[in-house]
Amino acid sequence: MKRIELIFTVFLSLTVFTMVLGQDNGAFHRSLLVVDGHNDVIYESLLKGRDIGKRIDVGHTDIPRLQEGGVDVQVFAVWSDDKKFGTGKAFRHANKQIDALEYMVLKNKSSIAIAKRYADIDKIIAEGKIAAIIGVEGGNMIENSLDNLDSLYHRGARYLTLTWNYNLSWASAAAVESKSEGSRGKGLTSLGERIIRRMNELGMMVDLSHVGEKTFYDVLAITTKPVLVSHSNAYSLMPHYRNLKDAQLDALRKNGGVVGVNFYSGFLDPDFTTRAKQLYRQHFKEKGNYNLSAVRQYEQLPLALRRKADAPLATLLDHIDYLVGKLGVDHVAVGSDFDGIESSPQGLEDVSKFPVLTDALLKRGYSKTDVAKIMGGNFLRLMRENEN
Ligand SMILES: [Zn+2]
Repeated sequence: MKRIELIFTVFLSLTVFTMVLGQDNGAFHRSLLVVDGHNDVIYESLLKGRDIGKRIDVGHTDIPRLQEGGVDVQVFAVWSDDKKFGTGKAFRHANKQIDALEYMVLKNKSSIAIAKRYADIDKIIAEGKIAAIIGVEGGNMIENSLDNLDSLYHRGARYLTLTWNYNLSWASAAAVESKSEGSRGKGLTSLGERIIRRMNELGMMVDLSHVGEKTFYDVLAITTKPVLVSHSNAYSLMPHYRNLKDAQLDALRKNGGVVGVNFYSGFLDPDFTTRAKQLYRQHFKEKGNYNLSAVRQYEQLPLALRRKADAPLATLLDHIDYLVGKLGVDHVAVGSDFDGIESSPQGLEDVSKFPVLTDALLKRGYSKTDVAKIMGGNFLRLMRENEN
């Protein structure tokens, strides 16, 4: 064989090997039960009348892209802005969102179905469909009523995130707690305790993303079931009130709960905001509006520069490594927050890109068994453990 031919043969073999390996990881991803524990497409697209049964060129989510991403189970978050839909309106608004989800599912019944129990999931997936789970993000939507909580449960809600970014009369939020001194008026009240006990009885997962530290520990002191932290990361790597401090992770480990990693660049990468602002300054120069928040500045950047500002994929893997180190590999899951965030890691631009995460976890050295746990197994186990 001539030298040039030898080089060409080696090159060709390597290329084929890489392609096969890539395909293997792709096939492995498709063999997994992939669960994403948090997505805001109801608010971002369904309430705006967008038809996500077909590919849309806005937002992060539609059914074709979920299929491309190999997503088997998608949690759809019900979220209600307290400024527009406060008490007297929030419960009705939550129901309107579940109506919108049910309507979308009905229109696409050959490709998606709502799962209310763990046992439904296997059946739905066996039919080649995506299993949709409802998660209610914000205790404001029960309007202080256990009957409303029961009602949302019976409509299919399988978790309630106790607070969003403001306090309720019965639970305090991280966004508020982190900015105020002392502990007066914080944590879970007696109504809050009754809500947790009722959720435990119903078999509805308690979601502690967004809640303040005092609420977090108050819940862990009384819950009889392992809890979910559906979309949060590690505070040690990115000090933000939406992320969990080491002491919280220790308490979560004792409870046996699960945390879903959030894809938001701003919860992953301490340099994201600075990078976005720098790129804005370089691009717009003296024409820029520097009164805008970093988020708005990011949104005004051309696509290529937004991609440059996004967190490197490695930062997401670093958070996973850290959480696995603290909690064990049985307690880390995925809660992307797609359609609720303006920036996600490079390579993970929308729901079609979940295979990239599986591939990256394998390349980080996680075993196939562990990848299967993180990509879905752990969330499903938690759901089953919460069921009665
Ligand atoms: Zn959220």
